Amino acid sequence: MSNPFEALGLPAELVAVTQELGYEAPTAIQTAAIPPLLAGRDLIGRSKTGSGKTAAFGLPMLAQVDLNKRSLQGLVLCPTRELAGQVMRELRKLGRRHPGLVVAELIGGQPKRRQRELLERGVHLAVGTPGRLLDHLDHGALDPRGLRTVVLDEADRMLDMGFEEEVSSVLKHLPRTRQTALFSATMPERIEVLARQHQHNAVRVEGDEPSASGEAPTPHGAPDLPVGIRQLYVVPERGAELHALCAVLAKFPHESALVFCNFKASVAEVVALLSEAGLSVDRLDGDLDQFERDRVLVRFRNGSLRLLVATDVAGRGLDIEGLDLVVNLELPQDPSAYVHRIGRTGRAGRDGVAVSIARGAHGGTDRRLTDVEELTGQPIEALALDDPRPQGAVLRSLAREPRMATIQIAGGRRDKLRAGDLLGALTGEAGLEGDEVGRIDLRDKVTFVAVARQRAVAAAKALDQGRIKKRRFRATLLGRPAGSRGPAPGYRDPGGGPR
Ligand code: ADP
Ligand code: MG
Repeated sequence: MSNPFEALGLPAELVAVTQELGYEAPTAIQTAAIPPLLAGRDLIGRSKTGSGKTAAFGLPMLAQVDLNKRSLQGLVLCPTRELAGQVMRELRKLGRRHPGLVVAELIGGQPKRRQRELLERGVHLAVGTPGRLLDHLDHGALDPRGLRTVVLDEADRMLDMGFEEEVSSVLKHLPRTRQTALFSATMPERIEVLARQHQHNAVRVEGDEPSASGEAPTPHGAPDLPVGIRQLYVVPERGAELHALCAVLAKFPHESALVFCNFKASVAEVVALLSEAGLSVDRLDGDLDQFERDRVLVRFRNGSLRLLVATDVAGRGLDIEGLDLVVNLELPQDPSAYVHRIGRTGRAGRDGVAVSIARGAHGGTDRRLTDVEELTGQPIEALALDDPRPQGAVLRSLAREPRMATIQIAGGRRDKLRAGDLLGALTGEAGLEGDEVGRIDLRDKVTFVAVARQRAVAAAKALDQGRIKKRRFRATLLGRPAGSRGPAPGYRDPGGGPR
């Protein structure tokens, strides 16, 4: 057997898919996890982010699915809607040679009724968030009797986010004869407890290879931080935390940056301060509905929004990479949340900076800093801020428009729109150059296109009045139009609320 995927015991059609996707060889976690999963064993797999865990469980799940039976055979639990979406897309990609395969996405923030209808028609695999899955199980919409395999993906994050009870309840609904696999980037003790409660004689596998810089892999149990992140902390005067935030933003030039707060109320405060000063900023917290959240993330990823202020719960599991800068307005209570927060900088071979504002509640340095250093085994450097300017002046220097602006178009995949159609309309009738068009994000019923900011108003108008594939679609510009000041039109002040 010359093909390394074939050697793991995968069937020919899945081996072919890995070739079509350009996977030359299985990653370490895939090599370790696929054979025992194919053999039906329970499994605990630990391996860092980006190491291919989805295919490690997805390929065996697909190898075992019986397409003739229209019943739920595989279920994946994910901590966030974004992650569930990623896993679903990956399963569909890997399942491209499974004709008629139905993978359902069962997540919160979307109408239950449509999900129920889909389940009634029958699905083979489902990916979802614990709360919504439990809801469907409780109401009998999801019939688990034919289930063979359940996967807890990003188990550490599910526990961090307080899903322990929901996860346990979901598992209690499932047949006892099922296979249970658990994947995680870290292995805190609470995961061991969960595993003991719900697994039988599980195999443990680890997938970490030495990191790119040739360092030894992190010891068992410690979270993996991508290499190339410069970690710093500052201790401002009492009450000068926001001033310090502004000085940090000014000191480290960035195209886009993420600011983390421990509370929704702090998010609101920071967003109000920065947006009043004319910065390109928006919030990401638990109060946004699915659509608002998606819209903010699209703008952030496509270069139409430079700063995002988030809470841990809302910010976890975001599919964002290669940020120049992450700032912690405050250190998180749970040190492992620190790793999740700053892990978004410096990916894809670029260096990033992570700065924590670490003033202790009673003065001095925040003690949580030491907890973080102990957990990661990496020192965090002290940073002196020497910007003599008053806060207002610093803020004014930061008020820069993002490069791009986002046009929302009221049509998507269901209207058979494709990226090429939009690119064609923009470079044709609207008269933009190819390099003035950025990311095109197609959803089912809506599309977001990034265009060069100075051309955005004209481009939106041209799209709105023109035709795409002989049809008219409403096109509107999102966020703040170029040159205006004050909060973006879509911004609602969520108000102070209790901390
Ligand atoms: P994790 O869940 O460990 O964070 P993912 O499953 O999201 O990682 O995989 C990260 C990326 O690697 C995905 O884009 C995936 O398509 C790709 N990938 C997975 N397996 C392989 C492989 N064997 N060779 C090359 N790329 C792979
Ligand atoms: Mg994953």
